[in-house]
Amino acid sequence: MREFIPISMPSITQKEINYVSDAVKSGWVSSLGKYIEIFEKKFAEYVGVKYALTTSNGTTALHLALVTTGIKPEDEVIIPDFTFVATANAVRYTGANVVCVDIEGNSLCINPREIEDAVTDKTKAVIPVHVYGHPADMSEIMKIARKYNLIVIEDAAEAHGAEVRGRKVGSFGNCGVFSFYGNKIITTGEGGMITTDDPELYEKARALRDHAMSKTKRYWHNEVGFNYRMTNLQAALGAAQLERIEEILSKKKDIFDMYSRFLSLNPSLKLNYQAQWARSVYWMVCLEVEGFDERRRNSLMQKLKEKNIDSRPYFYPISDLPMYEKAQTPITHDIYRRGINIPSHFDLDTASIEYICENILKIVGNMRNDI
Ligand SMILES: *Cc1c(COP(=O)(O)O)cnc(C)c1O
Repeated sequence: MREFIPISMPSITQKEINYVSDAVKSGWVSSLGKYIEIFEKKFAEYVGVKYALTTSNGTTALHLALVTTGIKPEDEVIIPDFTFVATANAVRYTGANVVCVDIEGNSLCINPREIEDAVTDKTKAVIPVHVYGHPADMSEIMKIARKYNLIVIEDAAEAHGAEVRGRKVGSFGNCGVFSFYGNKIITTGEGGMITTDDPELYEKARALRDHAMSKTKRYWHNEVGFNYRMTNLQAALGAAQLERIEEILSKKKDIFDMYSRFLSLNPSLKLNYQAQWARSVYWMVCLEVEGFDERRRNSLMQKLKEKNIDSRPYFYPISDLPMYEKAQTPITHDIYRRGINIPSHFDLDTASIEYICENILKIVGNMRNDI
């Protein structure tokens, strides 16, 4: 039996170990220290914005972005129905109402036309999510945002380095939000980042991240802030990972191309789509089986597990979760039950990809005969 093949795993080299050791030895173990500054500066450069602000994780980065841009109870914030729950929860923390709209069937990202249809006089913001590493259509979304005067917060938690017409995600909206959780494109263990070109937004978010302490009068606070800071140890890990990001992205692309070659043998298997204007970073390899329902999908995952191959189901529609309002989103509801993510971590070798593909082709072939 082959060794268990996990969905994702961070890639840690001597560089990461050196930077983190240096941070520990320096004694700057909390949220002051040189790696915070280095990581923020280099990340801003990478995304192509003026400012980047580290946070304790991606969810706090989203919450901080919403509070900083003035989202309040009773406001409406539009999000795609197909995303990780953190996008919706961050909106709920502010007391604003979550409005879920449908996605595009190929990119799995929010459909710009659906945003326009959902705008009311209470709508304050939209959070496009660059799902599984494919960018949302930011050119269209920014046009709609300008027309209706909406704040745009890009949820780029899954898409570090993804591009729309040659420009990186996280640089289009009022701000972008990233996550550095252990399974993301690059990791700090737990961690997040806000990116922006707006000096006011940056200064305000920075203050709120640190209990909104007065800059001139220590221990004086004019509003309720948060402790959403990242540590220097985490930033050291992040700084090392960021130096390797292009190497990581290129490996992800190679892995995807290999899957694509092997799995194209069965025309009922559909993998990640990439729009012609987009650079996807293939955070997760997505596999949808034509004609599958939730039961057959789960059975495929079970059979892969018996072969020691890890997989995970697509996100459930946010609007199906008990905390959120129901929504009419036929594409989200059609797609989520057919999709899984399969292993695509940095150290995955060709032999393992071949083994995974052989098993997928065999299992799906047998299940088709059962129908
Ligand atoms: C991972 C993720 C988040 C949250 O990031 P954490 O660092 O885990 O808090 C937010 N949105 C999306 C789309 C994510 O995938």
